[in-house]
Amino acid sequence: MWKPYRRAIEILQAVILSCLPFLAINGQSALRFDIPTLKLYVFGSVIWIRELYLILGVVLFFLLFIAFVTVIFGRIWCGWFCPQTVLLDLSQSIAKLSGRKNQKTMQALLLILLSGLVSITMIWYFVPPAETLKSLFVSTTITSFFLVLWSAVFLELAFLGRRFCISICPYAMLQNALFDNDTLVIEYDVSRDATCMKCDECVRVCPVGIDIKKGLNSACIACTECIDACRVLSEKRGMPPFPNYKGRIVRPKTFWLGGTTAAAGIALILLLWCRPTADFLVTRDNASLPSGLNRYSYTIYNNVSKTLAVELSSPDNVTLIGEHSFLLPPFSDLHGRILVKSKSKLDRLHLRISSGGISINRETGFL
Ligand code: SF4
Ligand code: SF4
Repeated sequence: MWKPYRRAIEILQAVILSCLPFLAINGQSALRFDIPTLKLYVFGSVIWIRELYLILGVVLFFLLFIAFVTVIFGRIWCGWFCPQTVLLDLSQSIAKLSGRKNQKTMQALLLILLSGLVSITMIWYFVPPAETLKSLFVSTTITSFFLVLWSAVFLELAFLGRRFCISICPYAMLQNALFDNDTLVIEYDVSRDATCMKCDECVRVCPVGIDIKKGLNSACIACTECIDACRVLSEKRGMPPFPNYKGRIVRPKTFWLGGTTAAAGIALILLLWCRPTADFLVTRDNASLPSGLNRYSYTIYNNVSKTLAVELSSPDNVTLIGEHSFLLPPFSDLHGRILVKSKSKLDRLHLRISSGGISINRETGFL
């Protein structure tokens, strides 16, 4: 039976997704996009919005990963991991315990509760959990977001539900384009059709309301419910279930697509790992100042989880006027301005930040 495995994975997935924002690595949520500062905290590191190459790397990795999983394992995401499937399955299973008569009401009540939990969890991926809980029903922004999300999630689950998988979900449409003849699918064994008991248990349990006996259907979310339902009856007759998994997992595509995905993941980790602990940008301001005097705006980024002592200096024959020694808290950035006075004629200015063992130079114009 697949159901116990699916339920275990669904519960694990729900626990992981709800707890991830609470898991602090290097003082920040394991995964959170901070809207005010446009920073993505990712497992103890930070990606700044200006680091387009890293953002593109993350997107590329996810696209490859999705392609790999879909080509090899078919709709495994839909039937085993998709939050919508998890919420509907879990609420349905719990509601069943209240008896057939109360099942629908109980499931609706559970969905109201679960939608609230999902909505607050979604906010935790943008606002730290402690701050969210403190601001809930105090801050208008957080409260409005929470209530709008809660209503939207509940309405989607209660009134659209599995119809979303069949008619709206863009991932479902993408999958049809990625499948090949060896992709793992759930298929009815037509060669044994004569021995099928035609009890239609497989149709009755299907959450998307299809008849697997009529052949492969793009609406099938590979939830394995029909396999389990059929197995109950077919095993009594010493036969395997009529609908079953069909496909080939170990094949050349698994290795080259899986290898490419793994290589992209390793490259992404190395890019993050090899970044300098601090980085900095500098631009000359268009301010009208006396000859030999220029003003610059700079931003210094602390990429690591410890406070950095940073020194701004210039190797040229110039004087820096303004503060040029700073302490940068973990994962913070510092914007500032500095005046630069040159004692001799200068076309380009070299500014440098140094912190610990690192030193980063930037070149800019001088008038
Ligand atoms: S549950 Fe199995 S035996 Fe019954 S109709 Fe479906 S495939 Fe045939
Ligand atoms: S056909 Fe079977 S695997 Fe596909 S959605 Fe229906 S019950 Fe799930």
